[in-house]
Amino acid sequence: LSVVYPIVFLDRDGTINFDPGYICEPEKVEIINGVAEGIAMLKQAGFITVIVTNQSAIGRAIGTASDVEATNAEILRRLIIENPQAKVDGVFYCPHSPEDRCECRKPKTKLAEFVRAKWSFNARECWVIGDKLRDLEFGAGIGIPKHQRILVRTGTGIEEESRLNCMMLEKPSYEHPIIVDNLKEASKHIVSKVKR
Ligand SMILES: [Mg+2]
Ligand SMILES: [Zn+2]
Repeated sequence: LSVVYPIVFLDRDGTINFDPGYICEPEKVEIINGVAEGIAMLKQAGFITVIVTNQSAIGRAIGTASDVEATNAEILRRLIIENPQAKVDGVFYCPHSPEDRCECRKPKTKLAEFVRAKWSFNARECWVIGDKLRDLEFGAGIGIPKHQRILVRTGTGIEEESRLNCMMLEKPSYEHPIIVDNLKEASKHIVSKVKR
């Protein structure tokens, strides 16, 4: 009998931390208000939390893989300092630039295969939270149901929401995600929907 884990796939920049663009220095990390508390709520509800993030700074030669990894480590450390329960279980990143045409840059889905190698999951029990529509497309691509895909209004979320509203006018059948103000609100929503 194989174990499957309920996973929340979290975007990084603009969802967990403020995004001035291509953060490659740990000292530039600033966690968005309420994020640590939100992640702690997800952990208490029994979720595995993973960050899946496009880090094209590497492919564009703006930073190195070790810069990105040091920044990731700092984000995890800052979350724990803010709330000892705010544990992110794993970080998976795409290092490529768009021109590389890789299979792991979101909305492509290969990062989820790396996650699955560590934690087997049933996408129907998983959620995705991000500030870009491509984060939600990634979620759709791996089979996360539409009512479990959440756009946050931090980062580029407000622009993405207006873009979405225009798309809905042209194509009313487009699958509308859930939209909330920030990751903490997203976490509250998730916890309210799952009874474990
Ligand atoms: Mg983002
Ligand atoms: Zn990639």
